[in-house]
Amino acid sequence: MLHVREPRSLRRPGGAMTLEITDITGEAGKLKAFDGHERIWLGRDEARGLTGIVAIHNTARGPALGGTRVWPHESFEAALTDALRLSRGMTYKSAIANVPFGGGKAVIVADSRTGKTPALLEAYAEMLAALEGQFYTGEDVGLTVADADFLRARTPNVTGTTVGGSGNPSPVTAHGVFLGLKAALGHARGSDALAGVHVAVQGLGSVGYALCEELHAAGARLTVADIDGAQLARAQQAFGAQAVDTDRIAGVAADVFAPCALGGALSRDIIPGLGAGIVAGSANNQLAEHDDARRLMERGVLYAPDYVINAGGLINVAAELAPGGYDRKAAMAKVSEIPLTLLDIFRRSDAAGRPTNDVAQEIAEERIAAANG
Ligand code: NAD
Repeated sequence: MLHVREPRSLRRPGGAMTLEITDITGEAGKLKAFDGHERIWLGRDEARGLTGIVAIHNTARGPALGGTRVWPHESFEAALTDALRLSRGMTYKSAIANVPFGGGKAVIVADSRTGKTPALLEAYAEMLAALEGQFYTGEDVGLTVADADFLRARTPNVTGTTVGGSGNPSPVTAHGVFLGLKAALGHARGSDALAGVHVAVQGLGSVGYALCEELHAAGARLTVADIDGAQLARAQQAFGAQAVDTDRIAGVAADVFAPCALGGALSRDIIPGLGAGIVAGSANNQLAEHDDARRLMERGVLYAPDYVINAGGLINVAAELAPGGYDRKAAMAKVSEIPLTLLDIFRRSDAAGRPTNDVAQEIAEERIAAANG
């Protein structure tokens, strides 16, 4: 069911029009990652350096909500594929977290350290405004709270802001992952105590580092990897963590592997050498292929589906859009349901001998279908 409208006219005051928004749903439809997405828009502004994609996957359960990723993809097709996969993931994440939103995601093709200029963000804010409330966005990899504040000063549909918003979602995401990781431990071993438990954390960014803080405080032993040497040194210093090369972290003989970097941490090449019996981390799209969850199951690895365990940030920003406004206590209460949802998935997976991601997908699809009527 299509709920989207065309963007409104983009003529700027004074007649100049540098931003062009094009419907590229047809072009996107040729890609493997296309999954009946409702609409894909491309925003181009050569003068201001914007190549931005807004992908609306499904709005049956509510308006599309999803972060904006700023990343220097090697090709336009790679960026579009990313937007397609991430926006689909948001539909499932909202459904499984039971928040009244649909799935969307934006990708801006730029290096966030060098290319994310105020002019680019201005152009992107105009693109968001032109979509007239059909897409709510916020932070993701490469887009900071300061950027969200910048956008929010220019267009209303931005969440995770400091002024009148819920702030940085990452610590909330990390807390949800922490609770979910404990649930996985409890399910696999009968105890969720973290004292002495060895966790290998891949990626020490906003979420990975905050997760390490909670794990360390609970007595876990940490092995960590990041391409950023400064973050590694920080984690070594703060948590007594052991650092390993990025290509070795998945193979570390730990109790839990926590992928908290980019997608594709688990693939048919990596899974046979995985060192942990539990995978519980924040990264989106951890599985390179859907069948990787079956490969994990067949190896006896308990996999906490990514979009279930990492929903804390989404729950927090969705709470901003609730009719009564943001209520931190209510948001955190909903985050504490993440481990319950995971335990339900683990039990159903055990009972049916089916991979956890299949079970999660089934629950989400039932909810989406119910909303579709
Ligand atoms: P971030 O950009 O702050 O951190 C990513 C970290 O991973 C960086 O420190 C980076 O140097 C590191 N990294 C990149 N490639 C690596 C590699 N090959 N090996 C090891 N480290 C590598 O991003 P974030 O906000 O912490 O998000 C991390 C993951 O969690 C992403 O996949 C994101 O989509 C997902 N996620 C984040 C949130 C949130 O609230 N921030 C919510 C849901 C999901």
